[in-house]
Amino acid sequence: MSETIERIKCLIIGSGPAGYTAAIYASRADLKPIMYTGMEPGGQLTTTTEVDNFPGYPEGIDGPAMMMDLQKQAERFGTEVRMGMVTEVEFSKEAGGIHKACIDNSKWVEAETVIISTGATAKYLGLPSEQKLRGGGVSACAVCDGFFYKNQDVAIVGGGDTAAEEATYLANICKKVTMLVRKDEMRASKAMQHRVNNTKNLEVRYNTEVDEVIGDQVVDGLRMVNNKTGEKEEIAITGLFIAIGHKPNTDIFKGHLDMDETGYLITQGKSTKTNIPGVFASGDVQDKEYRQAITAAGTGCMAAMDAERYLAEIETTEEEEKEVTA
Ligand code: NDP
Repeated sequence: MSETIERIKCLIIGSGPAGYTAAIYASRADLKPIMYTGMEPGGQLTTTTEVDNFPGYPEGIDGPAMMMDLQKQAERFGTEVRMGMVTEVEFSKEAGGIHKACIDNSKWVEAETVIISTGATAKYLGLPSEQKLRGGGVSACAVCDGFFYKNQDVAIVGGGDTAAEEATYLANICKKVTMLVRKDEMRASKAMQHRVNNTKNLEVRYNTEVDEVIGDQVVDGLRMVNNKTGEKEEIAITGLFIAIGHKPNTDIFKGHLDMDETGYLITQGKSTKTNIPGVFASGDVQDKEYRQAITAAGTGCMAAMDAERYLAEIETTEEEEKEVTA
């Protein structure tokens, strides 16, 4: 039997930069937030090593260390961080309604506001050699890790807008970029394809897939296979970037919240408001374009401010109604 454990003002789901920033702002606004961390406390940054592009860290910072700092900062203002997965939700459609979230299939939390920061998960190819070398030269974020491969030869997998954008980004930094596209054409927009085709040190290999990532501790090569001819070829590289898409972590919100065709939550205008009053979305779960720690943190701040304003409006409306009936 599941039980209701408590009623709170603000529930934060997810513990990446968006969730922690929302927590810092919400706790400073006295919303007494409770955060459930999810299966991967700290989110995607805990799977990277050095974070060099978050403002304020001139020497860079270790991803997991940064997430621990963010947690401490949120806790300093009273956020309660709990391990646990939200496994089911019941959202009220009424303004001022109470939302419910089931934790680990066993207990229910009732909340006046909910901030969803469950992030997105980068897709990988699933090859054993790729998994072994994640963090040792295999990365799913060129903007995060490209700099470590300055003047070196790298490869990137994918033919969508992300792959095209990241390939040209890498070409600016690296000596040579080989782009592996599995079909005989790219899915990326014509404008992005044009950019790719006009970048000198970027070579596109169509009908080409990864056969094996070569290297023991770190990547030192790639064996490619032409899926039309079966022909294999090895090249020397130090970095392999996987850019074959992300999956937003929104399965539990299907049927409850508006999302686009790929599952990203839809927010209204410049706000973090979803289609349900009192439910807000921040970070990668609602952003398939920028996907940076700093942009996630920015929207986390917005979500907490949106939640605070929403609660203030509800309170004002309730007081006005009381005055009318008095
Ligand atoms: P997409 O799903 O659009 O593209 C994924 C690419 O990876 C496709 O080329 C796909 O190949 C390839 N792929 C998938 N699985 C494999 C695999 N196992 N092996 C090899 N290749 C594989 O993802 P994106 O991240 O590129 O983009 C997501 C969304 O975000 C899109 O709507 C995009 O337009 C948008 N976006 C917009 C940007 C902008 O406007 N500046 C920037 C970045 C993203 P195939 O084509 O064969 O299926």
